[in-house]
Amino acid sequence: MSTLRPAQTTEKTAVDTLFTKIINREIPAKIIYEDDQVLAFHDIAPQAPVHFLVIPKKAVRTLNDLTEDDKALAGHILFTAQRLALELGCEKGFRVVMNCNEEGGQTVYHIHMHVLGQRQMHWPPG
Ligand code: 5GP
Repeated sequence: MSTLRPAQTTEKTAVDTLFTKIINREIPAKIIYEDDQVLAFHDIAPQAPVHFLVIPKKAVRTLNDLTEDDKALAGHILFTAQRLALELGCEKGFRVVMNCNEEGGQTVYHIHMHVLGQRQMHWPPG
């Protein structure tokens, strides 16, 4: 069994993205939930009847940039996704997705968890 090695990070300094602007209310978003660590808002181009994003307020570029210190934050993002999915009527099921880097389909370099629901999902995804 191998041990978990640190991921190769992208850039040392996180760069502000449009998600920072959403956190700071500099651009509008349909916000669903906020606390001191995370923000959740509806995706601007929904791929399902329910499609929202959960983001940390801390600007982390990619999943590879998460550190040991971010473990509780990562868990909080997942827990928030579950709670909100159920609140938004996805009790029959839903999907969570985190795209990492270009080949993973990431377009906004501030980590975010997609939550999609209220339609049948298929596998494998595109
Ligand atoms: P990614 O491709 O990085 O995994 O996902 C980025 C997501 O952010 C996409 O689903 C895209 O529709 C969404 N998005 C991009 N710009 C905005 C915006 O200005 N507002 C909102 N609410 N969502 C956005």
